[in-house]
Amino acid sequence: MAVLSRNEIDSKYKWDLTRLFATDEEWEKEFAAIDGLAAEFTKRAGTLTSKEHVLEAFRAHAEILRRFEFLATYAMAKQNEDASVPLYQAMDDRTMSLGSRVVASAAFMTPELLALPEETLDGYEADPDFADYNRLLSGIRRTRAHSLSREGEQLLAMAGEALSAPDQAAEMLRGLDLKLGSVRDEQGQRVPLTDAGFVLFLESSDRRVRRTAFRKMMNGYASMGNTFAALYAGQVKADLLYSRARNYDSCRAAIMDSEEVPESVYDSLITAVHEGIDTLNAYLELRRKKIGVSRLHMYDLYYGNEQGFEIHPDIEESFDLFLKAVAPLGEDYVRDASRALPERWIDVYENEGKRSGAYSTGGAYGTTPYVLLNHKNNYDGLSTLCHEMGHAMHSFYSNGAQPYPKADYSIFVAEVASTTNEILLNEYLRKQYKDDPAAQRALVGNLLEHFRTTVFRQTLFAEFEHRAHQLAEAGESLTSDRLSQLYLEIVKTYYGKKVAVDPCVASEWMRIPHFYSPFYVYKYATSFCAAISLARGILSGDPEKVTSYRRFLTLGSSLPPIEELRIAGVDLSTPEPVTQALDVFAELVYEYQTLLS
Ligand SMILES: [Zn+2]
Repeated sequence: MAVLSRNEIDSKYKWDLTRLFATDEEWEKEFAAIDGLAAEFTKRAGTLTSKEHVLEAFRAHAEILRRFEFLATYAMAKQNEDASVPLYQAMDDRTMSLGSRVVASAAFMTPELLALPEETLDGYEADPDFADYNRLLSGIRRTRAHSLSREGEQLLAMAGEALSAPDQAAEMLRGLDLKLGSVRDEQGQRVPLTDAGFVLFLESSDRRVRRTAFRKMMNGYASMGNTFAALYAGQVKADLLYSRARNYDSCRAAIMDSEEVPESVYDSLITAVHEGIDTLNAYLELRRKKIGVSRLHMYDLYYGNEQGFEIHPDIEESFDLFLKAVAPLGEDYVRDASRALPERWIDVYENEGKRSGAYSTGGAYGTTPYVLLNHKNNYDGLSTLCHEMGHAMHSFYSNGAQPYPKADYSIFVAEVASTTNEILLNEYLRKQYKDDPAAQRALVGNLLEHFRTTVFRQTLFAEFEHRAHQLAEAGESLTSDRLSQLYLEIVKTYYGKKVAVDPCVASEWMRIPHFYSPFYVYKYATSFCAAISLARGILSGDPEKVTSYRRFLTLGSSLPPIEELRIAGVDLSTPEPVTQALDVFAELVYEYQTLLS
């Protein structure tokens, strides 16, 4: 299980970044060009007085941003390939700093536009010449009460780079500096403990391996607890600074308003999920019986998923299964998606220094999406591939259908396409293995796990970050002890009825990179609930449901996110989709119980 260095990996399993830049030198040239364009752009300040000038400013800035995203995608990809290469580390740092300059160069636009008479702005928004920019315009007007003077906007934009330091430092700490030691595997061999390999230990049938890995991981993080708390407190202070500068009542209000999502979506999610905690615990009780322990511990939660369904598809087989699973989305979807592996959109395997986890980026408008994986030959690896390809195809279709300023879909809808693909995979395999009770058990069990880790676990995270922000807003200081105590308390609310909540789990919040993208994770839960409903529609055989869903994939950010999902066929402005999804969860728990007996 030794981790390979990057140059030991076959290039056909590495993404082809030459579609972005053929060489680092070309990247450097473009960097200088964009730096110049951004500096030039600031000279437009004070000129937004006529339609022509306003339109020209929108066009020019969109073009700078589009080209900047090429630079940023390349730098991020290079840095993620191997964080220990100083050249790419520097490239990524410089890109962030250029990004701040690019954003700052347009800081005059909002105040100048808002100074124009309302009728003029109404006219622009309705004018077909502004069709590509009407969402930008409506967004600026919507947040009018929260925009600052030109100087204020400039200052906030400039602060962006400094305020991203906690996120970067936490990533360095997690990815490089934190040493977690090793764990003796089932055969007694010492194996290095890494974030990427952690789940494999937790899936071990040897309880000692699970327990040791879990405790070492949690205690490893706890040994840096003060540092992680200082970093996270730094993040929360940055969120506070933004929300107060912009005159919002809370950090959450500021962030959710920027995405056009009502705060009630967040609260009704938590309320609805709390109502499902008893069903969660009924499920955990089934898991306990299944793995045959007298008391379930936190380190047991990942064990037992694939018993009776040990598939080991390599990346080619996984890719093939993915294409079969998404066949209900249409022949053209399958044809378009089939390009990804041969055209090297995907960086497949783990290597030394590579970023952990998986993601897809469609940032480089005009070229293909890129997908980073740390692929393992098992069901999780396959499922992750389907998930990331869901993002990638959403980008692919939105980039193809929308002008650049409207192509990038909002974070609120981002997890819908990915999760729908995961559910399609699950359903596909259930049909393939319909006469195999062990496989049925494993697949139902797997979907239940998805519910647990997506709806329950992410809502648990959402609750944690919301309460952490509330503490800070009330003037409390976010120490390691306070944060860990809060985390443990919430874990006990969710799991305490049936699981021995080992106290070391209190430091788990330190491991979660998403806390540095505040109020992000709740969207996994709402998206999962939406996806459950959409996948059921797609598989119902009603061609209109497929058409609506496919239309949704092309919408980018051309409409408010709640509206886009309504077009897809689900209304998240009501608690219904969450409640419905939890009903499906209860059905599955019942089905699982029958399959187990
Ligand atoms: Zn995702």
